[in-house]
Amino acid sequence: MNTFETLGIDGKILSAIKDMGFENPMPIQEKAIPELLKNDSDYICLAQTGTGKTAAFGLPLAQLIDFESPKAQAIVLCPTRELCMQITGDITNFTKNIRGANIVAVYGGASIEGQINQIKRGAQIIVATPGRMVDIINRKKVDLSEIQWAVLDEADEMLNMGFKEDLDIILSKTSAEKHTWLFSATMAQGVADIARNYMSNAKEISVGKKNQGAENISHIYYVVHARDKYLALKRIADFNPDIYGIIFCRTRAETQTVADHLIKDGYSADCIHGDLSQAQRDSVMKKYRSKTIQMLVATDVAARGIDVDDVTHVINYSLPDEAENYTHRSGRTARAGKSGVSIAIINMKEIGKVRFIERIINKKFTEAKIPSGKEICEKQLFSLIDKSINTPINEKEIEPYLPKIFGQLEHLSKEDIIKRLISTEFNRFLEYYKNSNDLAGDRSHSSSHTAGFKRMFISLGRLDGVDKGQLLNILCTGADLASTSIGKIDLMNSYSFFEVDIKDLEKLKSAFEQHDYKGRKIKIEESEKPADEKRERYGDRDSRGGGEKREFRKFGGDRGGYGGKRDGGGRGSYGGGGDRKSSGGSDRGGFSGGGESREGGAGSRRDKFAKGSRPRKKF
Ligand code: AMP
Repeated sequence: MNTFETLGIDGKILSAIKDMGFENPMPIQEKAIPELLKNDSDYICLAQTGTGKTAAFGLPLAQLIDFESPKAQAIVLCPTRELCMQITGDITNFTKNIRGANIVAVYGGASIEGQINQIKRGAQIIVATPGRMVDIINRKKVDLSEIQWAVLDEADEMLNMGFKEDLDIILSKTSAEKHTWLFSATMAQGVADIARNYMSNAKEISVGKKNQGAENISHIYYVVHARDKYLALKRIADFNPDIYGIIFCRTRAETQTVADHLIKDGYSADCIHGDLSQAQRDSVMKKYRSKTIQMLVATDVAARGIDVDDVTHVINYSLPDEAENYTHRSGRTARAGKSGVSIAIINMKEIGKVRFIERIINKKFTEAKIPSGKEICEKQLFSLIDKSINTPINEKEIEPYLPKIFGQLEHLSKEDIIKRLISTEFNRFLEYYKNSNDLAGDRSHSSSHTAGFKRMFISLGRLDGVDKGQLLNILCTGADLASTSIGKIDLMNSYSFFEVDIKDLEKLKSAFEQHDYKGRKIKIEESEKPADEKRERYGDRDSRGGGEKREFRKFGGDRGGYGGKRDGGGRGSYGGGGDRKSSGGSDRGGFSGGGESREGGAGSRRDKFAKGSRPRKKF
């Protein structure tokens, strides 16, 4: 078996990586390190994020560079600030025992002057995001003429983000004699173009097959009605009490909305997207890395470069526009040899997208059923018992209280005590899920009953000139209710049905006792017909989100107060009346965020690239 020593890494670096806990090389390191150390060719390395690729190029660089000279000898280009800082930190650690070693990180969103000063002081390795590097080149504050190694990390991501022009500029400033090492998760067309334009006789190193998702990721999809997506997400989270996940959404507004609702519903979650300032994003990432939060809701762009180990689940709340992005998303789990799960919550219309992704990643998805309330309760119960068993006992602190506690429990049997203690937590889940239905897409039977809501009759309908949005408005303003208190609405000609959160039922009824609409008395009463029967009779339902909205907290203590509201536009309201833009034939129901804007809006690098020459793979 290879060791770092047999791969050719020498003493000072060996002791540094030992301190980092690197005992044995990972597969990409085994293949790449001896090759790159030969220093006689350009290389294309196909490796997913999380496979140890930073050390695969960082260790050879650390060994090849002449740290006695202060000249810039290597430039590492990567797509995001987070990745830039991560790489800089890693290489700084590899070289910590080498006198004179200086690694500088250059990225946008921070003072350019400070970065220029650091370069001036002498840095042998510059790790940079392309945009900021070009700014510094344009100010003539860096000399790249002695660069001997150019590393393009996550090259496919840099191209996806529209950095091609910047890469062209940077690489044209470096000497033709340098060696280029290109790392990419996929051999996308643009990557092959770069290899053709900038590399000569590049040798290829890969672990696993091209364009294939990591072996140890299980891909699962759940089919639900578009309106049930959020409920499905909550159930997945509840069914995995120890989840440490990233939830991907397509737009900033959807990201913010999903996160807001998770936080409101007592989950340990927060989000990152382009409407947040860098400081806000850093703060969220700090909490996520330290596992203060369990679920990070993110857009593709904001999540680029997130390299957090131990992510157990990647959840595609909405599938990405481009199938290749699925590989990047799922690659956030199963890092460093671990296994992980990549989940897609889809509606019936999106099965074709799943099949398309299967072809791209060359792996099959498993279709799974959203866990029932009963299954979730059971899972939570045993997780609670596990936690109880594993909770350390602070003997010293608890000791003084024990006599009194034992006294109070004296009359109860051991079985009773266990049942009661467990029930203090368990009952919350039982209560929450007691009326829950199966969540399933159109392929199986699905009930229209919304747990916790009461079906109501109202004597207003289309002939009164109201639509669903207006009816919602009449109900909410008339009874001073939040829009989340109203569930599904069935609009008929002369009357309608709607659902109201049971806790607001009385308030609604009394508010409408003396209410009229354009001079006509409005009658509101509880509907006696079961919801399913109504549906059959009255046809289509509205797809407003709803159900299972009662405030509840997960086991494991109070997570409230976390994740304060932020500024930042486009925070949709849950089930509000705004237009729901649909894309690619998919319905992103559940929430409707106003003014949905994709990450990287018009004029952004991403868009510029999208309009460029390379047609991108769409579903
Ligand atoms: P990377 O793909 O470079 O982001 O690496 C993924 C994770 O694996 C990082 O947390 C690295 O610190 C860690 N890592 C890289 N190489 C090794 C190794 N040989 N042994 C243990 N951990 C490693």
